[in-house]
Amino acid sequence: MRIRDILRRKGDTVTTVRPEATVRQLLAVLAEHNIGAVVVSPDGAAIAGIVSERDVVRRLHDAGAGLLDRPVTDIMTTEVHTCGPGAEVEELRGTMTEHRFRHVPIVENGRLTGIVSIGDVVKSAIDELQSEREHLVGYIQGAP
Ligand code: AMP
Repeated sequence: MRIRDILRRKGDTVTTVRPEATVRQLLAVLAEHNIGAVVVSPDGAAIAGIVSERDVVRRLHDAGAGLLDRPVTDIMTTEVHTCGPGAEVEELRGTMTEHRFRHVPIVENGRLTGIVSIGDVVKSAIDELQSEREHLVGYIQGAP
């Protein structure tokens, strides 16, 4: 299965925040959309960074509540690992496991076109196992 198969099902909506957004505003966006990470982008297409709930928790511990009024650029990861819609889901699963992040923005022709989370990857694996199981059961029951 490829990344574009996941995007076909879940859609290509990516929640972004502008670089000047504060950490407080970021938290509102994470809560409102019930998500764990957002892409930081000036225009919704180019990627300036990625910031996840983990970044907030770690930095809050170091910096205290003053962090909430600082810009997200202070805590975002700027070296963002992305992949194209044609990549294999299995390959992406390996990358997420190896680098220990749970979100990968999808980029096509230099533009942000989706985001895949570890939850999406796990769901696609379960769906695949389920259809494989149904196929095998059908085969066994259909056998003379
Ligand atoms: P996550 O597991 O996605 O909540 O993120 C864990 C850490 O990895 C945080 O410091 C994120 O900013 C960072 N991170 C998340 N996704 C990516 C990515 N695709 N590329 C690089 N860093 C990432």
